[in-house]
Amino acid sequence: MILILLGPPGAGKGTQGRFLADEYGIPEISSGDILRAEVAGNTKLGRQAKSYMDKGELVPDGIIVAMMADRISKEDCKPGFILDGFPRTIDQAGALADMLKELGRSVDFVLNIDISEERVIKRISGRRSCPNCSSVYNVHCNPPKKDGICDNCGNELIQRIDDSESTVLNRLKIYNKQTKPIIDCYDKRSLLRTVDGEPKPDVILDDILNLLNR
Ligand code: AMP
Repeated sequence: MILILLGPPGAGKGTQGRFLADEYGIPEISSGDILRAEVAGNTKLGRQAKSYMDKGELVPDGIIVAMMADRISKEDCKPGFILDGFPRTIDQAGALADMLKELGRSVDFVLNIDISEERVIKRISGRRSCPNCSSVYNVHCNPPKKDGICDNCGNELIQRIDDSESTVLNRLKIYNKQTKPIIDCYDKRSLLRTVDGEPKPDVILDDILNLLNR
């Protein structure tokens, strides 16, 4: 199965992506996680991407498309994969269709996680992330067992630079302008399923599984 997760920053794409990856036994591929690892490793790609990411702007399509084409062609993606954070522009969606065509494959479902901007802002301001294993917590509604420490790997949690309130507003503006139009494209191709992103994560997962298995 090839599944795309869409929704604004903070909608819960990463959380649901990891649940679904476990459920279906296929990799969850987060373009943001790949970029953050490149930045942490101070690679050429990381250095190219960092200034865009810190401001909450999109990294240029050419860089992202090459990075994702490389990832999708890996052996572990053969049984299928879940995309979180890619595609984010109409051009990236076109490039994804082209790369899948070349592999003789196509997208099965596009899942849109629907959530209000007010909720997104509240959620992201409380978000704490593990730079080591990418686990995500929320100081208000999903705190780690030990304050500031990842339950999963024991690493210290951080607040991402791009999770500051002013940067979140910029990310939302960019999402509305550049990413939202993709939803219509996939809807026209009857690939779109929409799920309410407001309830608790386990409730959302149940709703998603019901939608996908219908
Ligand atoms: P995310 O973790 O998905 O919120 O991504 C964090 C940041 O990485 C974004 O704000 C962008 O700067 C960059 N990024 C991630 N995915 C993409 C993409 N598909 N296209 C352009 N930039 C991206």
